[in-house]
Amino acid sequence: LNDVEHLACDVLVIGAGGAGLRAAVEARLAGKTVIVISKSLFGKAHTVMAEGGAAAAMGNVNANDNWQVHFRDTMRGGKFLNNYRMAELHAQEAPDRIWELETYGALFDRTADGKISQRNFGGHEYPRLAHVGDRTGLELIRTLQQKLVSLQQDDEAAGEGDAKLQVIDETTITELFIEQGRVKGAFGYRRGTGRFMAVAAPAVVLATGGIGRSFKVTSNSWEYTGDGHALALRAGASLINMEFIQFHPTGMVWPPSVRGILVTESVRGDGGVLKNSEGKRFMFDYIPEVFKAQYADNPEEGDRWYTDPDHNRRPPELLPRDEVARAINSEVKAGRGTEHGGVFLDIASRRSAEYITERLPSMYHQFKELADVDITSEPMEVGPTCHYIMGGIEVDPETASSKVTGLYAAGEVSGGMHGSNRLGGNSLSDLLVFGKRAGEFAAEHATASEPPKLRDEEIAAAQAEALRPFGNDGENPYELQAALQAINGRLVGIIRRAPELEEALRELEALKPRIDNVTAVGGRAYNPGWHLALDLRNMFVCSVATAKAALERDESRGGHTREDAPGMDPEWRRVNLVATLDGGEVSLARQDVPAMTPELLGLFDTSELAKYMTPEEYGPTEAEDA
Ligand code: FAD
Repeated sequence: LNDVEHLACDVLVIGAGGAGLRAAVEARLAGKTVIVISKSLFGKAHTVMAEGGAAAAMGNVNANDNWQVHFRDTMRGGKFLNNYRMAELHAQEAPDRIWELETYGALFDRTADGKISQRNFGGHEYPRLAHVGDRTGLELIRTLQQKLVSLQQDDEAAGEGDAKLQVIDETTITELFIEQGRVKGAFGYRRGTGRFMAVAAPAVVLATGGIGRSFKVTSNSWEYTGDGHALALRAGASLINMEFIQFHPTGMVWPPSVRGILVTESVRGDGGVLKNSEGKRFMFDYIPEVFKAQYADNPEEGDRWYTDPDHNRRPPELLPRDEVARAINSEVKAGRGTEHGGVFLDIASRRSAEYITERLPSMYHQFKELADVDITSEPMEVGPTCHYIMGGIEVDPETASSKVTGLYAAGEVSGGMHGSNRLGGNSLSDLLVFGKRAGEFAAEHATASEPPKLRDEEIAAAQAEALRPFGNDGENPYELQAALQAINGRLVGIIRRAPELEEALRELEALKPRIDNVTAVGGRAYNPGWHLALDLRNMFVCSVATAKAALERDESRGGHTREDAPGMDPEWRRVNLVATLDGGEVSLARQDVPAMTPELLGLFDTSELAKYMTPEEYGPTEAEDA
C-alpha cells in the first residue's frame, strides 16, 4: 500500500470527454476542488472525433426551428422510448450551452449574416447542427480544455497551480469505493508506470463514454470498453435499455485495416446519396410507414429539399440512423452490395470538388490517406459500424444522479435521453447539457457532505483485484477480446433472433471462467495486455446486459431489430429494461417509461402518437371527445 498515491477532492470526474470536462467546469465554478481522470491522453476522447456537429435549435438557418421541434424530432428518433424530461431539458438548454461555448472561446462556422451556421442531419427537421467543418468535436474539446486551464488560473486558485482543478490523464479507474450506499472515491492505476491511485471524494461523476470495443467493426477507439457502465453496476446503480446499440449506417468497409472507421452523416446532410451495385438510389424503397409524411418519395423532391426545405420533403438518405443501417444491411444481403460488402456513398457526382473539400475536409483526407479514394471524383464504399450505445446508467433527469448517493453520470455512459435510437448531433449537445447538470449537482452534493475516509482494507482489496491477472494461468486478453467480439458481432449485431441471443448468452457464460482467468504477463509499466485484461470484465458484463435485454424485448425498435419480432409493439413502448447486478449476475427487471405530460403530448398530432402508443396513453383529448 506504500506504493499507492493518495488524493482527495470534492468532485471526482472520471472521463475527460465533453461530458466530463463540462461537469468539471461547472463543479469548479461552484467553488469545489475537482480532479479529472482520463484513461487516454488529455484531449483524446471520443468527443474529439465528433465530426458533424452539435444539435441545438437556435433557428439561425431556418427561423422556424425551436426547442419544441427539436424535442419532437428527438422523441421520434428514439421511437418515443426516451425519458421525455431529459429530451425536453436537452432541447431547451442546448442552444444556451452552444452560445456559452463561444463565450469560452469556441468559434463555430458562420452563416453569411454572421450567425453560428447550422447543418442538416438525419432525423432533424431543420438545419440544426452547429459545426466547425467536419471537426466539431475537436473545437469543443479544445475550448473546454482552454476553459479548464483558465479556471486553474482563477483568483481563488492563483498561485496554487492546479491544486483546485487537477487533470490526471493516462490513468484508468478500476473500482469505485462505496460505503452504505454512498460513493466515497475511486481506485485506479497510472497506465505509464502501473502505479496505483486512490482518490477520496464525496461526489463522483462518471463520464466514460461507450462500449463499442465489444464489437470488432466499430467507429469507437480502444478505450471504449464500457468501464463506466460496469463501475456503476458493481457500485449498485442500474443500467437501462442496454439492448439499444446504434449501428451507424456509414463506416468504411475497405481496406480491412480501417473497417468501421466513421464516415460522417454530414456527407449525406450535404447532398451525398446511397446507391447499390446496380447504381440504384435504394433508400426510396425503405421509407417506413411512420416517416412517410416527412420524407420525399422521389429523387426530384428529395433534391429540391436541399434548396427549398419549406416546400419539399427530406431525402430518405436522411432517415434516422437505424432505418438507414437496416436498409444497407438488406441491400448487401440481397446481393446488391459492393465488392467488399458495403454500398456506395456518392457525393462526387452531386457536389463540386471545392464544395466537398471545404465542407468535408476530414473525410477527403481520411479516404485519400487510408483507402486511396478521392471522394471528389469517386464514390465511397460504406457499411454499418457499431457506433453508440443508447443504453446506460439510469439517472435522474434533473440532477444526473444515479441510484447510488453521490454518483452522477453524463454523456454516452448515461441512458434514457435518446430512447431506442439517437439522432446524429444529439450526443454533443447531450453531453454539454447533462455534463453541466452533473457538475452542478455533484458540487451541491459535495457541499452537503463530509470528506470521506478510505480504509486500507478496501484499497488493498481493489489493488489485489487489479493485480489478479498477473497470478492467473489462463489465456491472453487479446484472444479473449476477439472471442467476445465474435460472439457479439455474430449473434447480437444489427439483426437479432431469439435462438441466436440464447446462443450468445450460452457462449458468454462459457467465456466467463476464461475471462476470470485472463492472464497478464510482464511488468506493470506500459503494459497494454494487463490493461486489456482489466477492461475485459467490463466488456463482458455490458455484453451480458445487452444480450439479456435483447432477448427479453421481443419487438423491433430503434437500435434493436428482432427479425423474429418485426415491428414496434405499443406495449413494449412503455417498458424500460433495467439491469442490475445480483450476486455478481446481471438481472433484468421491467420498469414503466415515464409518461409524457399533456403539454408535451400536445406537441404531436394524435394521428402520429397513435402509431406508437396505446389509445389510453394519448387521448382522445377532451376536444375530440366532445
Ligand atoms: P467520451 O468523449 O467518449 O470520453 C470518455 C472519456 O472517459 C475519455 O477521456 C476516456 O479516456 C475516459 N475513460 C473511459 N474509461 C475510463 C476509465 N476506466 N477510467 C478513466 N477514464 C476513463 N456525436 C454528435 O453529437 N455529433 C457528431 O458529429 C458525432 N460524431 C462522432 C464521430 C465519431 C467517429 C464517433 C466515434 C462518435 C461521434 N459522435 C458524435 C458521438 C459522440 O462523439 C460521443 O457519443 C460523445 O463524444 C461521448 O462523449 P462523452 O463525454 O460521453 O465520452
